[in-house]
Amino acid sequence: MAKIGFIGLGIMGKPMARNLMKAGHELVVYDIRPEPVEELAAEGAARGLSPKDVAARTDIVITMLPDGPEVEQVILGPEGVLEAARPGLIVVDMSSISPAVAQKVGEECRQRGVEFLDAPVSGGEPGAINATLAIMVGGEQATFEKVLPIFQAMGKTITLTGPVGAGNVTKLANQIIVAINIAAVGEALVLATKAGVNPDVVFNAIKGGLAGSAVLNAKAPMIVSRNFKPGFRIRLHHKDLRNALKAAETLNVPLPVTSLVQQMLTALLNEGEGELDHSGIVRFTERLAKVEIAPQA
Ligand code: NAD
Repeated sequence: MAKIGFIGLGIMGKPMARNLMKAGHELVVYDIRPEPVEELAAEGAARGLSPKDVAARTDIVITMLPDGPEVEQVILGPEGVLEAARPGLIVVDMSSISPAVAQKVGEECRQRGVEFLDAPVSGGEPGAINATLAIMVGGEQATFEKVLPIFQAMGKTITLTGPVGAGNVTKLANQIIVAINIAAVGEALVLATKAGVNPDVVFNAIKGGLAGSAVLNAKAPMIVSRNFKPGFRIRLHHKDLRNALKAAETLNVPLPVTSLVQQMLTALLNEGEGELDHSGIVRFTERLAKVEIAPQA
């Protein structure tokens, strides 16, 4: 069993840390918010005082933070993980960040003798709770093999996708497909509603055909029941598409449909809806169409 540091105990990080404890690992946890730290301490985790303190007391440090700036601060910043750098330490960032930032952090780790993997996930809060996450890993094969048993306590489909940064490239591909798919589901259900056809009936009629998808199955029921509790926040999906568009610009890849959905997310942020689940993308289309999908009995 490993001594694991876990930094970032939000919607995803807290249940992931809990699954590591259930698998018998010893955990030292840290977050800038005291509540989740206290919750996990009551379940047997040790409290870390800073990212540096967490790294000094553990062999593997996992981070699950909002975006690149937080990851850079926690790993490279003052009182950060690398202030406790030593050969043998492994750092695994499981946040969804820009591939370029993952490469920068990976390189700084390498220079200090620390092994690094970028390992973003998909599967949302239910996947984090049920330890069924898909984990997309970038880094060296040897480091991947050392961390694999730990990934297996948190996820089901675990893939080494290439060198450091490749994990986040794969995650960006995932996020593009999910965002565009949700926007399409929203447009389809708004049209059905305005045409006077029950959107729940439409969902059940089409889910077994070519339009069926994991996104349709997860998000259509939320939309028709008006349950926009996150899940995955609009604010975070906006961040992911921003990272996708930045990477695309560097590579001269036009992403016209992704840009369009990103504009919708920007408008939703301006409406103060950034904390809603990303199924709330439908609210953008509802406003344009002057119709709101009513909760279905
Ligand atoms: P969240 O906002 O719920 O959690 C982030 C946590 O990080 C919070 O507890 C926050 O207090 C903590 N934090 C922020 N800055 C910190 C710092 N400097 N030091 C220590 N702690 C700090 O976000 P989440 O939904 O858990 O997502 C985390 C990451 O996982 C994001 O990159 C997100 O895109 C990705 N992700 C989320 C989902 C999902 O469905 N929620 C799914 C897949 C991937």
